[in-house]
Amino acid sequence: GRGRPWEIKKVQTTCPYCGTGCNFDLNVKNGKVIGVTSNLSAPVNGRALCVKGRFGMDMIYNSNRLATPLIRKDGVLVPAEWDEALNLVATKFREIKETHGANALAALSSAHCTNEENYLMQKFMRAVIGTNNIDHCARVCHAPTVAGLAVSFGSGAATNSFEEIPDAQVMFVIGANPTEAHPVVGTKMKQALAKGAKLIVVDPRQIELAECSDLYLRLRAGTDVALINGIMNIILANGWEDRKFISERTEGFAEFQDNIKNYPPDVVSRITGVPEEQLVEAARIYATADRAMIFYTLGITEHTTGTDNVMSLANLAMLTGNIGKKYSGVNPLRGQNNVQGSCDMGALPGDYPGYQKVINTEVRKKFEKAWGVTLDPDMGIMLPDMFAAAISKKLRAMYVMGEDPVVTDADANHVRKGLESLDFLVVQDIFMSETAKMADVVLPGASFAEKTGTFTNAERRIQMVNKAIEPIGNAKADGEIISELANRMGYPFSYDSVEEVMEEVASLTPLYGGVTHQRLGTQGLQWPVPSVDHPGSKVLHQESFTRGKGLFVSVAFQEANELPDEEYPFLLNTGRKLSHYNVFTQNSEALGTYSPEELAEINPQDACRLGIKEGERVKLASRRGALETKITITDRVPEGMVFMTFHYMDTPTNVLTNGASDKVSKTYEYKACGVQISKIA
Ligand code: SF4
Repeated sequence: GRGRPWEIKKVQTTCPYCGTGCNFDLNVKNGKVIGVTSNLSAPVNGRALCVKGRFGMDMIYNSNRLATPLIRKDGVLVPAEWDEALNLVATKFREIKETHGANALAALSSAHCTNEENYLMQKFMRAVIGTNNIDHCARVCHAPTVAGLAVSFGSGAATNSFEEIPDAQVMFVIGANPTEAHPVVGTKMKQALAKGAKLIVVDPRQIELAECSDLYLRLRAGTDVALINGIMNIILANGWEDRKFISERTEGFAEFQDNIKNYPPDVVSRITGVPEEQLVEAARIYATADRAMIFYTLGITEHTTGTDNVMSLANLAMLTGNIGKKYSGVNPLRGQNNVQGSCDMGALPGDYPGYQKVINTEVRKKFEKAWGVTLDPDMGIMLPDMFAAAISKKLRAMYVMGEDPVVTDADANHVRKGLESLDFLVVQDIFMSETAKMADVVLPGASFAEKTGTFTNAERRIQMVNKAIEPIGNAKADGEIISELANRMGYPFSYDSVEEVMEEVASLTPLYGGVTHQRLGTQGLQWPVPSVDHPGSKVLHQESFTRGKGLFVSVAFQEANELPDEEYPFLLNTGRKLSHYNVFTQNSEALGTYSPEELAEINPQDACRLGIKEGERVKLASRRGALETKITITDRVPEGMVFMTFHYMDTPTNVLTNGASDKVSKTYEYKACGVQISKIA
């Protein structure tokens, strides 16, 4: 039964799925979460919640939850006491550090964990182990955002706020599928449409929003730079640019303008497959509106040209003065609940908390003084390079917290080989993941319902995560586990509370300078929050850019790394479904009932030509691996494209994807590679 209302405790907290950052109340009875109810004071979503927030919390009690530490003995993972497991990890880490040096160890931090835990993890690797080898899954999603927007504007985060969306005049949505991947953001966009906003959708796949758009551009996958340059060429040809903004607020315009001359509409139309008149219409709608907002996600970033794609969008916003004011801006929709926060906290090989660079001597001295140690002056290894480093024995041990790279990283067979080559692998997770199955020691972490801390959403809002129940079984909050390891390695982490960790973050991180748990309360604060009396920041770059002047960057079009050819004639594109979140929701039975299996999408023309029927199982192969999957036939995808999600363990899409990565940020090209389809005899 659901109990009588007066027996139920309600705990406001932040959703553990996507980066929209919805709040809701966990309903707790007798120490158990029995349901979720809306909380009207939730700052982002009010009463609204998507299917994942509403029904996905049964994952807390899934039978796949880890409830006790495990140690590999004679090849098998067997239950162990905490002391034995932690002592073993500390001893092994110390041995490897002494024999091979600190840089033979690396860690993956987690966008599922709190800011405080990410802070502790990077401090553990830097101050206790002595290496900058720390990274996390932002590397495989929005690292090009962090890198690209930092070059253009000086800070790599969304410029505006979600509360502006219902009153937007123009929305330019490129490489994003909000109604499925960020559903509450999608709802806000539909509210804007109902009030008369114009919507431009750019995507090779005809997503749901395309159907309610004023203009849908179906570009060939991976041609975003050409398309955006083409739109800017048309804007300049028609005099629709904002001359005053360009001269007062930006630099680099002359060189940029020369580059744009190479992208006249006929050339761009040939490259992208988008008709010239649609390019002109997109330029007109975006540039002639009083204000226009750009939204994008992984369709922009997960390319070998990811950082270029992001800087192109920054160019477009600056060209038309659509930045630094409400209802405008460049707005990456960050993927996971706390991927913004993991970046903010310095779970990156080149950044201390707050994007303070490890190669900057002054910054390093500040952290050396605060932490009382000598720190490595060189950048660490980025996530995609860790697997090759393991194979070459440069890396000997890894500490993976709350990530499952064997399933989520491109070219999964290469990842598996890398992890197999390690001398020692520690996985800390709430579920028995595919990566955990390979570990020497498995440490059971606590879910978001079982701990206190903060998450930072895609509009830079830092919000409270409030403990509702005790950890399941013998599990422990991830921050406590990290602290226990630090203590055992001779560098005590002696915090009396999670709040004290945030106090340390604030003292060292100007962006979070005025943040305290008490101030966050039920509404949170949007960074930068430089001081305790600062109200937070809804719109970035209002008077000047973080870097001073905005920088126009000349970007040249480049094809995807691997295009379809005779042998692999289809282009594989990947993305998400509404009812699932990465591989995480495999652990929710409720959500499993919505879309229980992979259904790879192909176009009716291709299905007809290959003689494939709706629901038929086929073999898909790329140069790197092969799998079997069911097919669905739909004109959502154009001819020549296959679309798959990566939600299902039994259809591991990433054995197919390409491990080639963006030259700046090393983000994999998940959005384009060549595959072949064959019937199963
Ligand atoms: Fe959770 Fe995102 Fe759904 Fe909101 S939109 S309930 S944050 S998954």
